[in-house]
Amino acid sequence: MILLDGKRTSEAIQQEIAAEVADIRVHGGKVPHLAAILVGNDGGSVTYVTNKVLACEKVGFGSTLIRYEDDVTEEELLDKIQELNNSDEIDGFIVQLPLPRHINSQKVLEAVDPRKDVDGFHPVNVGRMVAGLTSFLPATPYGILQLLERYNIETSGKHCVVIGRSNIVGSPMSILMAKAAYPGNSTVTLCHRNTVDLAYHTRQADIIISAVGIPGLLTADMVKEGAVVIDVGTTRVPDDSRKSGYRLRGDVDFENVAPKCSYITPVPGGVGPLTIAMLLKNTLRAAKREIYA
Ligand code: ADP
Repeated sequence: MILLDGKRTSEAIQQEIAAEVADIRVHGGKVPHLAAILVGNDGGSVTYVTNKVLACEKVGFGSTLIRYEDDVTEEELLDKIQELNNSDEIDGFIVQLPLPRHINSQKVLEAVDPRKDVDGFHPVNVGRMVAGLTSFLPATPYGILQLLERYNIETSGKHCVVIGRSNIVGSPMSILMAKAAYPGNSTVTLCHRNTVDLAYHTRQADIIISAVGIPGLLTADMVKEGAVVIDVGTTRVPDDSRKSGYRLRGDVDFENVAPKCSYITPVPGGVGPLTIAMLLKNTLRAAKREIYA
């Protein structure tokens, strides 16, 4: 059994990006610049955005954090998005979700210029991905593709079972794994909350990608010997022995599933650390005009 080390892979990707930024600087090119819009003071969101900004600094990107109180109006947000869309300095930007309920998140996401949509959430990028055109890929599926690729995991002709059909993980993952590409060329089954007999499907899987958010959902009896298991779940469960009072648990019953696997991601330290690296990668690609020439 081989552990898929997301932390090490993320660091390697960030080093590659930093080297490329240094090269851009030497040649007088456009140094990538990411902006992030954060609304309110939700602990999780503040941490995520802070980490993204810090990661920018580490690889040599410019970064701008724009903060609003919870009572910001939709109009104010849309105005700021227009300003970022029109800025020559900002190559890519993100709007940290969730937004307060009085704001129409879909409208906000659709206001972002697809050429600067480094989260890959705009319908134009989703559509381009489905059509097999170059697009910004959402960070989590993009990170999983990187893990499969960097560990040279065979995906062609394999049966890949994706659990969860969210817009940002499960659905795009299922589409990407079926593409005529590497990683890809898999036969894909997409399972979700209406699936009858989840275990029937997972037992046939060569590759299982779970993005559900139910701790321990995937148990050893549901996994075939030699399977590759990618766990996207990160649920906070109470843990008195920790200073924070909680720990992260994945969708996979790791202790019992891991011995059956050829490859498996730990939680934490698997898919999670890759998301920031892939956001940086998208920002670099935006600055280099790789997606939209
Ligand atoms: P994420 O953002 O990590 O992808 P979401 O909470 O948005 O997670 O989506 C959870 C997904 O998990 C949904 O698509 C839902 O259908 C799926 N799901 C929830 N419960 C089950 C279950 N018991 N079996 C299979 N899929 C489930």
